[in-house]
Amino acid sequence: MSEQTAEPKDEGKKKRKKKKVKAKGSPAAAPARPTVVEIFSTMEYGPAPETDRVANAWLDAHNRKFDHFIGGEWVAPSGGKYFPSENPGRREPLAEVAEGSPEDVAKAVAAAKAALPGWRALGGHGRARYLYAIARHIQKHHRLFAVVESIDNGKPIRESRDIDVPLVARHFYHHAGWAQLMDDEMRDYVPLGVVGQIIPWNFPLLMLAWKIAPALAMGNTLVLKPAEYTPLTALRFAELCKEIGLPPGVVNILNGDGRTGAALVDHPDVKKIAFTGSTGVGRIIRKATAGSGKKLSLELGGKSPFMVFEDADLDSVVEGVVDAIWFNQGQVCCAGSRILVQESVADALLTKLRARMERLRIGDPLDKAIDIGAIVAPVQLDQIVDLVKLGTDEGATLWQPSWSCPTNGLFYPPTILSDVSPASTVAQVEIFGPVVTFMTFRTPKEAIALANNTRYGLAASVWSENLNLALDVAPKIKAGTVWVNCTNVFDAAAGFGGYRESGYGREGGKEGLYEYVKPRWKEEAHGRPELTPTPSEVGLAAPAEPEDDGPRLPPIDRTTKLYIGGKQRRPDWGYCIDIPDASGATLGQVGRGNRKDIRDAVEAAHAARGWAAGTAHLRAQILYYLAENLAERQSEFEGRLSLMLGNPQAAEREVALSVKRLFTYAAWADKYDGAVHATPLRSVTIAMNEAIGVMGIVCPNRHPLLAFVSLVAPALSTGNSVVVIPSERHPLAATDFYQVMETSDLPPGALNIVTGHREELVPTLSSHDDVDQLWYFGPSEGTEAVELASAGNMKRSWCEHGAARDWTSEREAAGREFLRQSTHVKNIWVPYGE
Ligand code: ADP
Repeated sequence: MSEQTAEPKDEGKKKRKKKKVKAKGSPAAAPARPTVVEIFSTMEYGPAPETDRVANAWLDAHNRKFDHFIGGEWVAPSGGKYFPSENPGRREPLAEVAEGSPEDVAKAVAAAKAALPGWRALGGHGRARYLYAIARHIQKHHRLFAVVESIDNGKPIRESRDIDVPLVARHFYHHAGWAQLMDDEMRDYVPLGVVGQIIPWNFPLLMLAWKIAPALAMGNTLVLKPAEYTPLTALRFAELCKEIGLPPGVVNILNGDGRTGAALVDHPDVKKIAFTGSTGVGRIIRKATAGSGKKLSLELGGKSPFMVFEDADLDSVVEGVVDAIWFNQGQVCCAGSRILVQESVADALLTKLRARMERLRIGDPLDKAIDIGAIVAPVQLDQIVDLVKLGTDEGATLWQPSWSCPTNGLFYPPTILSDVSPASTVAQVEIFGPVVTFMTFRTPKEAIALANNTRYGLAASVWSENLNLALDVAPKIKAGTVWVNCTNVFDAAAGFGGYRESGYGREGGKEGLYEYVKPRWKEEAHGRPELTPTPSEVGLAAPAEPEDDGPRLPPIDRTTKLYIGGKQRRPDWGYCIDIPDASGATLGQVGRGNRKDIRDAVEAAHAARGWAAGTAHLRAQILYYLAENLAERQSEFEGRLSLMLGNPQAAEREVALSVKRLFTYAAWADKYDGAVHATPLRSVTIAMNEAIGVMGIVCPNRHPLLAFVSLVAPALSTGNSVVVIPSERHPLAATDFYQVMETSDLPPGALNIVTGHREELVPTLSSHDDVDQLWYFGPSEGTEAVELASAGNMKRSWCEHGAARDWTSEREAAGREFLRQSTHVKNIWVPYGE
């Protein structure tokens, strides 16, 4: 046992005694070795230090001072400032690192921009060769990477050596493959351009790989900012890029803290931000990029449930808990930080866990035999201490092993907090340390309710020997990854990412590639003239010439209501809006919905959750039925649309395409399959496309029926329930649709329609905490407000930026892009074998 390694208090005495015995031995004699009997009587570990000689030599070769890596060169910070990086396991300074200013950010982005055409022109195979070279070089230098990671971050060498670095190499191999296959598998997509990537300190090199590999594979160039506590492996990686001859500027590593990150987020030439870190900073970034058109993926915090059913193998569960919450000192966004255990086995599990915790070993991260290393920084340790105190103040019972932690580094013992109520701070807030809460449940239903009682949704782990039960529970948990009888398992072939306030976007797997591309048509349409809006889309047209064909009968008055929970409902306010036809004459009135109507509609949509739980076949049938009933009323719809648009041919086309589109999504309903990923473990890794939940949709003015159908149908087809604000100018196309819906067996609440003024409705819909996703296809001036409001509950938002979509085009307005935007990918890992 090394000096820094913790020891049980009583065993410590034994050890000291043993040392005395050794000291008695004559210096001339061979050193006294413990006998086999002695070893067996204590079963103590000896020290197993990993050398840091090579790592120190590398740091010394750089004079322990690192600049930015820009355009393939080391570039001194323009402000001349450096900040220290420290070894948290020994509290020793390691190196000084450049602090990035906005000027440095501009330099790095310019270098990435300059490298872009060449990198893209290289093609998939060319890029695959570089990614392959990176993977090979990581493997060749894996021990140096592992040691540097452990001294910079504090994680046990066993983890950096056996988990982080092998996964890094695997990620580059896997994505070398995606680069190679891009022309075939992603042929309808093109790179985004320069991407900005910001990563945290808990898996410094692994997060770098998760970000850099897919970005490069898809033909982007990048600027990556490592976390300020753990910059060193990224700098070694920069050097590796030079070694393999990566073209300058393709990868730029810029150091600094949150201010440097913010400058990168704000840079106008950055087309996408990929961020991993806290939900708080994720929210800042969502707001900072609102309205900019920058693509965004956020992998944020978590409070993942670790669910133990009574038939679970408790010994495996105990090892699972070790991996769930004591892996990387619990500084893992998907850490299983809430144990939920069935009441009947709770005491037995607690007893076993305590026994295991007594034997966990904490200490110098470079000791190969320790289980728990150091906390990354004093501020993080303080946060853990404060939150645990808050937990006990709120009534939790604290349990820690009897041994004490070493004092020469930043250590915190493994901790269980039991007697925790679901609403208490420690059950809700991410502690990001080796601290787990312990709660009980009686039934699977209660377990699921407790598991989902969080604003996060990153991961979950389900323990039961009954696979039927586990696979029934897995889809009901709102989380991006569910591990069955295992935990914290990752692979490059499987996507990872969150639901709800854990963020959006996936990293890994084919699903992760879409974060780094845009549809090819967007690029081809770039700069194409705006589709000329018809007068009826922008304002009132000149009144039509009166026709002289005798006296006309007044039309029968028609006022439509809102459609909420399967019923036509009067608007809360009791006001109507006049809707003009193409000539400016009044065509009808619609209800003027307000915020209360939106709230009612969202509630009705939530109550229609059965829509997602029903079969895809049923959804297909109902969408076909909608198409059938729309076709039945074809001439009626054409007549009304013709009055709205002032163009009978356009009206005819609009109805025909709407019927076709309903057919398209009826067809997709049972065909938008998931996948079984080829992960290298003995595991079936199921990637399921899951409905997002309640979706808000804001329709464009253009194509009042076709755009409405093109947006609503994919959302319904994949099992979402929808609140839609139809075309503000031509809402009657949607309200006429009520009758189609009423005759098509669509369950109440699956589709709710609120007409009215956008400015009165969109703010409530986009800021509503119970709306999980918002699609906004209104005027582009509105996107900023929508994206800002979406930051409240971190709902996914999809706003149209850039070239306007041609709603009549199958390529631009139908298909997989819409289905992908309607779904989350959930990865469920099911290991097999005895
Ligand atoms: P953690 O809780 O993991 O420390 P943070 O969210 O604070 O996570 O930090 C993650 C990364 O985000 C770090 O690289 C940090 O420097 C960066 N960062 C912090 N604040 C901002 C900001 N306002 N804008 C951009 N990046 C930021």
